[in-house]
Amino acid sequence: LTAMNNGVGVAADELLGGLLAPGMDRGSCLSRYQLLRYFKHFPYAPSPYLLEKLRAYEARHRRCAPGTLLYAEAVERLRSGHSAEGMECRYIVWLPFDGLGNRMLSMASGFLYALLTGRVLLAAIPPDSADLFCEPFPGATWLLPLEDFPVADLLHLGARPEQSYTSLLAKKKIVVDVDGNATAPPVPAYVYLSLGWQMVDRPFFCGEHQLALAKVNWLMLYSDLYFAPSLYTITEFQDELRRLFPAKESMSHLLLRYLLHPGNPVWGLVTRYYHSYLAPATRRIGVQIRMAGGDTVPADDKYNQILACSRQEHILPETNDGGNKTDGGGSDGGSTTAILIASLYAEYYDMLRSRYYEHAAEGGAWVGVFQPTHEERQATGKLVHNRKALAEMYLLSFSEELLTSGLSTFGYVSSSLAGVRPTILLPAHGHKVPATPCRRAVSMEPCNLTPPWGVKCTAKAVDGEDLARHLKVCEDWGKGLKLF
Ligand code: GDP
Repeated sequence: LTAMNNGVGVAADELLGGLLAPGMDRGSCLSRYQLLRYFKHFPYAPSPYLLEKLRAYEARHRRCAPGTLLYAEAVERLRSGHSAEGMECRYIVWLPFDGLGNRMLSMASGFLYALLTGRVLLAAIPPDSADLFCEPFPGATWLLPLEDFPVADLLHLGARPEQSYTSLLAKKKIVVDVDGNATAPPVPAYVYLSLGWQMVDRPFFCGEHQLALAKVNWLMLYSDLYFAPSLYTITEFQDELRRLFPAKESMSHLLLRYLLHPGNPVWGLVTRYYHSYLAPATRRIGVQIRMAGGDTVPADDKYNQILACSRQEHILPETNDGGNKTDGGGSDGGSTTAILIASLYAEYYDMLRSRYYEHAAEGGAWVGVFQPTHEERQATGKLVHNRKALAEMYLLSFSEELLTSGLSTFGYVSSSLAGVRPTILLPAHGHKVPATPCRRAVSMEPCNLTPPWGVKCTAKAVDGEDLARHLKVCEDWGKGLKLF
């Protein structure tokens, strides 16, 4: 690559303003050093405090990672069944749950929690994701060694509400007083946190329970949510979060760019596709079309929603519908637009490509429409499928502008990585095309689709007014909350 589309010099700062630690092996993770050349937006630099915390985290991770004596000791404690106070290394183990976008958001949330609480994040990566991501931390692995781990069948624990923190509380296996003291019986060696879309363990978001959980050496995190915004509701974390992310909407953006880098097999897909189809254009628009659950309508209806949205928000190039104004003389001022479609289905690509084939774009601009795959159905258990899905999230994140689907973590991740406030297609609840086709997002933050509504905490509540200033109901989901 000789030049970048945004004109930033290649060598200027390949480690994203100090966000990434130096000294890792380039060859084993090319994307870590090359991603910077592909992103078009750099809206937020990391705060000095975030950098300090990240470097401290990396040092802690090295001290406590698998392979160290401290790790071996902590595993022995886990085997013995009770937590011990004052252990230097405490862990949060990320467990896989749901699709790739969901997983990336729960990883980012789990990592943030580890930053806030002095824990070490280890990932139980299943075979379907074996080489998707690079090792994020210098000099130590983040992979949990699954063989010989004292908690059996970690990858298949599932939702397990009966083992959740809430049920431990109900069964008095852990007793928490108002000051967060976990009283007798002895604190269990691990606690399983059920923080998925059903949000079983709501007490997790109370200060008193955070104090109690701090005494537990191992936490197993089972979540498919971006629960990070809900950490703001805990007084102990609020000030810290403010200092880490002075701009609220930079949280997921910086966490994802720090933590997740596609491994070389995925990076090969990404770069081959980008240079073949997207790089030649002067502008890229990513369009992500996802239909899941109750949010399905016939393809023609969805297509019309996309066009109505595009007209409302001025996203895709309009066409001269008469079709006779084109002079064939080429693009206006050399402007060319590449529209990248990410979707499980081929129809939208066909329809959009025909649109710009049969009609000239206004101003005579050249418009290319591209779609890397149409896998037809989600196949999260398959590595090759997941590699393509991840490649498409990153390709979307290299766009100047994004049109994404509501309720989709796939789209949320792309926008956060891109540093773009997307336009979000509103879901077709009950299979009905919504009257308002889409909304501009207030921030690049993902929606926390299941905040812990209704939880009653005894610890001091955070300043509600302050919360209201930076937490808002999501554009695409009335029960969800997002930072802005
Ligand atoms: P969400 O379900 O939209 O929140 O996103 P997830 O990423 O969690 O789960 C959807 C999964 O379906 C993805 O991880 C992919 O496996 C697959 N998928 C959905 N949309 C696409 C797409 O546009 N391209 C590809 N390659 N896969 C997709």
